[in-house]
Amino acid sequence: MSPPASIEMIADILRKGGLAALPTETVYGLGANALDPVAVARIFAAKERPFFDPLIVHLADLDWLPRVVKSFPPIAKTLAERFWPGPMTLVLPKSEVVPDLVTSGMPTVGIRIPDHELTRQVLRLANVPVAAPSANLFGRLSPTTAEHVREQLGDRIDALLDGGPCRVGVESSILRVEGDRVTLLRPGGIPVEEIEIAVGAPVHHELTTGDKPAAPGMLDSHYAPRTPLTVGNQIPPAAPWPRSGLLTFEAPHDSHGYAMVEVLSPKGDLVTAAAQFFQALHRLDAAGLDGIFAIAFPDRGLGRALNDRLKRAAFRKAETPN
Ligand code: AMP
Ligand code: MG
Repeated sequence: MSPPASIEMIADILRKGGLAALPTETVYGLGANALDPVAVARIFAAKERPFFDPLIVHLADLDWLPRVVKSFPPIAKTLAERFWPGPMTLVLPKSEVVPDLVTSGMPTVGIRIPDHELTRQVLRLANVPVAAPSANLFGRLSPTTAEHVREQLGDRIDALLDGGPCRVGVESSILRVEGDRVTLLRPGGIPVEEIEIAVGAPVHHELTTGDKPAAPGMLDSHYAPRTPLTVGNQIPPAAPWPRSGLLTFEAPHDSHGYAMVEVLSPKGDLVTAAAQFFQALHRLDAAGLDGIFAIAFPDRGLGRALNDRLKRAAFRKAETPN
């Protein structure tokens, strides 16, 4: 049976960098091509979330897996065979193709094969991995019907796939797999007892991540540069350190004396800036600088999430002087 046209259209929208709300067995997700950082930045813009958190990458089946993860240990394979499709997310080392914005700069990526036939058809046709958080505005309830999504995000998305009400609003269990060690990061749809039976060993617990954002600096697994980072509103007239890095939103009039300058969006566009942000921070961090001076973003839209990230990076440094 050939799938209905709407599914093809939605797959096409995703492939071309658009936003599509998709039903899953947990809640409706707001999906974008996980390999396209600008598309992923648009997810955060649409949700008006004042911070970034790592997004789960959804796959139709195991075909894409070797391209998005660096390793897939035997225990992960056992778990995947037992619980996918289903409400289980595996956190594994990410491959180079996964943009840092998807993982908030972390070296790992959360992967899931959702148990929803229509959405899997879309994912299969789109033939790209799809990053998706819940399809709600910041601070509003997670949507379990297409109508909830329409109310909150109707005018901000390119497509909405109505798959009826979500079966159960239980979130996915999130498991980090490192070698033969399995750690539960968030309890969810699959009981720990069942996971332990499947892996034949006790599961470790580390409930530091969760759906609730922690206060700035609290999410230990989030990326912070090792180079000291200072945030200000204007470029200091003299570079503050012998080897200074500068992170700015728009092209500066004068960056004299800076060893390295990263301009996130010469055109002053926050979506582009968010898409570039983590990559630029990684480059600055790898350059052996004495310090990074970051100019605060405009306090609107994605600028708020970017400012939150800068504050955390600076906060982390203050707490752990080296
Ligand atoms: P959800 O709200 O169901 O879309 O799940 C998103 C949550 O998954 C994030 O807020 C994190 O707590 C968790 N998560 C996703 N990717 C990772 C990762 N690479 N490492 C740790 N936790 C992750
Ligand atoms: Mg959520």
